[in-house]
Amino acid sequence: MKTLTTEILVIGGGVTGAGVAWDAALRGFDVILVEQRDVGHGTSGRFHGLLHSGGRYAVKDAISAQECIHENRILRQTHAHCIEDTGGFFVVTPEDAQSDYPQRFVQGCAQAGIPCDEISVAAALRLEPRLNPAINQVFAVPDASVDGFKLIHATMQAARLAGARIFTYHQVVSLLVAGDDDARRVIGAQVQDVVRDERVLIHAALVINAAGAWSGRIAAMADVSVDIVPGKGVMLATAHRLVNRVINRCKWPGDGDILVPAHTVSIIGTTDTAVSDLEHLTIEEWEIQKMLTEGEKMIPGFAQTRILRAWAGVRPLYRETAVSDDRDISRKFTLLNHHVRDGVARLITITGGKLTTFRMMAERTVDLAAAILGPRRPCTTASTPVPGAEKGAYWLGHRLQDVERNRWQNQLICECELVTRGMLEDAVRQNPTVGLDDLRRDVRLGMGPCQGGFCTYRAVGVVHELKLEKGLSAETGNAAWASEQGGSSDTVRASQLYNPNLLLRDFLQERWKGVRPIVWGQQLKQEALDQLIYLSILNADHLPDAQLKSPLSDFYHQESTDA
Ligand SMILES: Cc1cc2nc3c(=O)[nH]c(=O)nc-3n(C[C@H](O)[C@H](O)[C@H](O)COP(=O)(O)OP(=O)(O)OC[C@H]3O[C@@H](n4cnc5c(N)ncnc54)[C@H](O)[C@@H]3O)c2cc1C
Repeated sequence: MKTLTTEILVIGGGVTGAGVAWDAALRGFDVILVEQRDVGHGTSGRFHGLLHSGGRYAVKDAISAQECIHENRILRQTHAHCIEDTGGFFVVTPEDAQSDYPQRFVQGCAQAGIPCDEISVAAALRLEPRLNPAINQVFAVPDASVDGFKLIHATMQAARLAGARIFTYHQVVSLLVAGDDDARRVIGAQVQDVVRDERVLIHAALVINAAGAWSGRIAAMADVSVDIVPGKGVMLATAHRLVNRVINRCKWPGDGDILVPAHTVSIIGTTDTAVSDLEHLTIEEWEIQKMLTEGEKMIPGFAQTRILRAWAGVRPLYRETAVSDDRDISRKFTLLNHHVRDGVARLITITGGKLTTFRMMAERTVDLAAAILGPRRPCTTASTPVPGAEKGAYWLGHRLQDVERNRWQNQLICECELVTRGMLEDAVRQNPTVGLDDLRRDVRLGMGPCQGGFCTYRAVGVVHELKLEKGLSAETGNAAWASEQGGSSDTVRASQLYNPNLLLRDFLQERWKGVRPIVWGQQLKQEALDQLIYLSILNADHLPDAQLKSPLSDFYHQESTDA
């Protein structure tokens, strides 16, 4: 069995794990991060896309509000290229006009240090013509739109440059625990490399559990109880961008009261319902209806807008069951030292929080790690830009500008998201890509109105060509796979993963999951066209390997959806 040794093992490749790996590596710790699938596979790849100003929490939770504005300012420097500086409005709709919330909101913003300027409704309507003209008041705050995939990739890249080793498609299957009942300590983890189908033993001086909604399962591997109550939130993406600023309702936070511009689309969300099964998130009709009804209050006509996709993410809501005072650092995230709390040394859990506050959560976590392992260099993440930050904030037209300037029209693979052949090839070369869905997270492949209708077959061809460059022939790969299903040789597994038929099928399947809940009107016409292309022209259901099961099909064929 392959064995690795490190000081800190981080479990979870969401934004929290990425932040911890980056911070710890910058301080001089030897770090390994393992993620069971691709980075951003969990909640960090299925969130709303809002860089909070803190306005959302100004009345309800002053500490969160302060944390958000503090981190909002830092991330605009350290992760500038992952942010579109849209600004945000809090609008008082006719339904919300009779409460004292707007006054309390203004006071709360002032106390938390959030810049908040009331502007006239007429001025707001000039800037956002689709806003409900019946709104009573508008407050401008420094909300922004954040590209979560870019942010995690950039943070992982920064962690790698600082020396961290990042292993995707490595799933922790057990924790290694030493000592007897009175002095138990975690000494590492046994990990399954799901691509090569082999076990890896990782010895670590400290294990940091950053597995989000899964962190209860990881803690249970050391017989420790971390009670996570997963809270599902549903979001819908419109087929085009309805607003250029984040629009929030100025009222007590509730369902469907935020609309975020995200690249070429707008995202409305969200809900909060307890779920028991993390792997099978179904989207109910009432949840879709709720988003449409609430959207209508901010943007008249919203309910008739073409919706291109629905998806859900899970909040890792933590419920304390153990008696200890070594827990909440803030009300919004939870840092647990299991030595103090449960008598199991060398294990930390960090969970909850917001994407906006991930850097601060990581800082507090690594402070605790340093207290356990011995101090190193001080934290520098607040003043260290990640690679790419020098480009500055992105803007809606940045891809179009690149395509036009560089005359890349004939190299477009995905017209909806303006993904060029070069972008796709770079992503394949730079990241340990396993499926087209990984590329979707990297470059937004297939995220536009046609949901992969035109780009999937082109992307499969490009990826396959790159694999052929590496000496893998389709015939050899397919034949080897067919004869050795379940085999464990690297070549066989790699061939399986790059089998073009399966790449195509898995990606279409994945896209379909998010379309299914909203397939009516124009999107139904689009789906009928996609079906003609893939089932009637390309006969995708009867390709040579139709009977074969992708090694990752258990992952791909779950019911969960993401943007
Ligand atoms: C619906 C919704 C909307 C939200 N919107 C916003 C927003 O607009 N702005 C904002 O700031 N915040 C938002 N949040 C909060 C934010 O998305 C989360 O706080 C954040 O993404 C959590 O990141 P994480 O890394 O802790 O968890 P995750 O991103 O879930 O990462 C945990 C990772 O651990 C991995 N893992 C699990 N088990 C194992 C294992 N055995 N081995 C290896 N890896 C494993 C998972 O695959 C996963 O990738 C939203 C949350 C939800 C649910």
